[in-house]
Amino acid sequence: MPLVSMRQLLDEAAKGGYGVGAFNVNDMEQIQAIMMAAKETKSPVIVQASRGARKFAEDLYLFRLIQAAAELNPEIPIAMHQDHGNSFETCASAIELGYTSVMMDGSLKEDGKTPATFEENVEITRRVVDYAHERGVTVEGEIGVLGGVEDGHGAGGSGLEHITDPDQAVEFAERTGVDALAIAIGTSHGAYKFTKKPDGSVLKMDVLIKIHKMLPNTHLVMHGSSSVPKELQDIINQYGGRLKPTWGVPVEEIQLGIRNGVRKINVDTDNRLAITGAIRKVFAESPDKFDPRDYLKPAREAMAKVVAERMKQFGQAGHAGDYQPIPIEAIARGYKDGTLSTKPQVASR
Ligand SMILES: [Zn+2]
Repeated sequence: MPLVSMRQLLDEAAKGGYGVGAFNVNDMEQIQAIMMAAKETKSPVIVQASRGARKFAEDLYLFRLIQAAAELNPEIPIAMHQDHGNSFETCASAIELGYTSVMMDGSLKEDGKTPATFEENVEITRRVVDYAHERGVTVEGEIGVLGGVEDGHGAGGSGLEHITDPDQAVEFAERTGVDALAIAIGTSHGAYKFTKKPDGSVLKMDVLIKIHKMLPNTHLVMHGSSSVPKELQDIINQYGGRLKPTWGVPVEEIQLGIRNGVRKINVDTDNRLAITGAIRKVFAESPDKFDPRDYLKPAREAMAKVVAERMKQFGQAGHAGDYQPIPIEAIARGYKDGTLSTKPQVASR
């Protein structure tokens, strides 16, 4: 199966009332882990690469691996997505490579650190939307600013400084024509999201629900949404790691989000934890081993287990065979003739 438009994947998820995990990759083992899980659970999937990942793996290695994944798993719809594009050029280069979706994170300036103004965000996102849609590529925008820093990207802070304003979210969706909208509801990138199990004072599900009521047909995206389960932290610490106690976004909150318009859920930290725990375990238990396959294989399996679990929890499991991919050229025509709408339905202001 060729790579699929993320817009098609999310439209189908909305029809089916489920969410789709977007899992970050940097190397072959992570891509294989995702595909193992997708195959096992029969899930459509979003694979995404940050700027840091593209640099680490060198663009072409990573993209060819994704193409291999698509060729080897013809029954699985896969969208390939640029995570947190910081500029028009970053998004355009991903589109050139063959990514079927890009995020233009205009909530920050090009340095990936300084919050941008609303007008700056609208302007750059609109420019990327025009360019991407002409080529049949999906665009995710962000309104409000997430907390934390990951891969050198982020404004830092707790995630509560720049919670999305629902009225601005509506105006942003109307003026940019984005296919998917990332909102800030108190989550942060990285492992250290919350210092205790989050409640409504730090995780603003009420804001998400309000935005969904105002924009009932807009695909919402939750970033920083690893659950950071204690079992994964414990394995790392049991075998010599030193993670401080931390809390992520509980799966039941993500499921509440999915019932309220969330269609894409970004997960990276949980997979990093699973990989690191598995490798530490081998190192601690078998210090005589030195063949990388001896620890990369269990690492890959540990990540596949987490991904499969999320796929079931998000509801995407079992939906891989629901639809046939629409060719990207046909998607481009759809944007042009208006059959693929870029005007959000606005319920009330
Ligand atoms: Zn993110």
